[in-house]
Amino acid sequence: MTNYENLKTLALKAGFDDAGRLDVSKLEFLQDVRDMCAADKCHNFNRSWSCPPAAPSLEEMRDRVKKYSGGLLVQTVGHMEDSLDFEEMMAAAKRHSENFERLWDALAPDYPGIFPMGAGGCGKCQPCTYPDAPCRFPDKLAYSMEACGLFVSRVCTDNDMKYNHGKDTICYTACFLLE
Ligand code: SF4
Repeated sequence: MTNYENLKTLALKAGFDDAGRLDVSKLEFLQDVRDMCAADKCHNFNRSWSCPPAAPSLEEMRDRVKKYSGGLLVQTVGHMEDSLDFEEMMAAAKRHSENFERLWDALAPDYPGIFPMGAGGCGKCQPCTYPDAPCRFPDKLAYSMEACGLFVSRVCTDNDMKYNHGKDTICYTACFLLE
């Protein structure tokens, strides 16, 4: 039986600021969220294997998560000097990405079927091989939660985790489906 307290400790050790159990049955894969990717605010739409339109369809996602009952939700929180503190926004995003890779490596030996979903598109290669050649590292490709159609703030509140950590903070969220 999975010990979520131990997993939370592992997540904090990897550098995350908060972590908690994710109830997979509460995940809703929403077309409206997926459609927001087309606005291309993060400049990954149609530029990466990890993002729409290359990312699996919502139907494929719903099918893929059927075998999981539990997972881990993790967050990195940045504390900005003010709402325009882009330096800290970028620094927190980088910390989140590093934490994500560290925890993925730590969990993978015990959970060979692990299904990670990150924040934002995959940034391993600059540039991504999309669409001219296959992904260079398909085993290390993580889709973003938004690309999967997940409304991240709702996923947090549905799992009793804060999404808004207060004034002048920025929160990056990711998850790992495990069981
Ligand atoms: S691993 Fe490289 S090729 Fe694959 S999605 Fe990420 S950036 Fe693109």
